[in-house]
Amino acid sequence: MKEFEMIRRFFTEQVIKRKDVLLGIGDDCAIVSPSERQNIAVTTDTLVAGVHFPHQTSARAIGHKSIAVNLSDLAAMGAEPTWISLAITLPEADLQWVEEFCVGVFELCEFYNVQLIGGDTTQGPLSITVTAQGLIPKAKHLSRSGAKAGDWVYVTGEIGDAALALKHIFNEVVVEAEYLDSVRKRLDYPRPRVLAGQALREYASSAIDLSDGLLADLGHICEASNVGANIVLDDLPISNALRDTVGLEKACEIALAGGDDYELLFTVCEDNKVGMETALANTGNTITCIGQINRSAKITSTLNSKSVPIRAKSFEHFASSTD
Ligand code: ADP
Ligand code: MG
Repeated sequence: MKEFEMIRRFFTEQVIKRKDVLLGIGDDCAIVSPSERQNIAVTTDTLVAGVHFPHQTSARAIGHKSIAVNLSDLAAMGAEPTWISLAITLPEADLQWVEEFCVGVFELCEFYNVQLIGGDTTQGPLSITVTAQGLIPKAKHLSRSGAKAGDWVYVTGEIGDAALALKHIFNEVVVEAEYLDSVRKRLDYPRPRVLAGQALREYASSAIDLSDGLLADLGHICEASNVGANIVLDDLPISNALRDTVGLEKACEIALAGGDDYELLFTVCEDNKVGMETALANTGNTITCIGQINRSAKITSTLNSKSVPIRAKSFEHFASSTD
């Protein structure tokens, strides 16, 4: 099957047909037409086999994740996702693989009313690059740079399970059978916090999505906002699976350093706390206050009200070559 047949068969027909897409797949470019009241947020993320997902990951999970990680970036800015472009590089034209991959892609697109408007299909080592775009009312976007001393630090959902799943896959820990399914789902099928992000536009002083690990991503907020933070380890939202598998101390370490959570981390000033908590409850998201922003230039942590050193080290591409 040729490239064009594959595009026609798998990508051209879609359930989602947005009014603001004047021209979708089929020409040299797509044409979209947003309203004047909104700005466009644009983000790109690449998933490389063996780096961003283990080689044995299912096609459906790869499809889901390649969309989810991009929608997660849009969520962190408070954007409503609208259009995606999809560049796929495949070792061979494996039709069954592409079909399953598309299930993962379009499940999320249909859930969030996102239209695939173009892409590129090439041959080579498996890699997926998605560009996602979204709309934000003018001057309403969230950013990493607005955190102020005294603001509370919150996180959505639970953290650390995706990192635990990876450790299980690489035989570093053994996750009991009763937990394995839920833990693997956190790695393979992350749920981007799209509605939470939009709700936070009115309340949060800063926001970021958790891809590199809580500590690294809180570090990004602190650096951009010129502040420090203290994390209350007792309050980290850790699953029973994580705590029962590795014990509380190690669970905290994994929750701080492990990546791939795709939860939102955000800061809120005291006056916005109640409003934010109500708004987020209405989106169906659980949230946990895990600490507070301060004037120091570092991130510290406390356990049982006593200060404890942070041992976790987070993931960074090219870390070993620049250390
Ligand atoms: P060009 O050579 O002009 O870049 P292509 O032949 O690569 O165009 O693609 C033809 C059309 O199919 C374009 O509209 C392109 O956006 C779309 N397309 C190609 N690959 C994909 C894909 N993986 N997903 C979605 N659309 C795709
Ligand atoms: Mg092309």
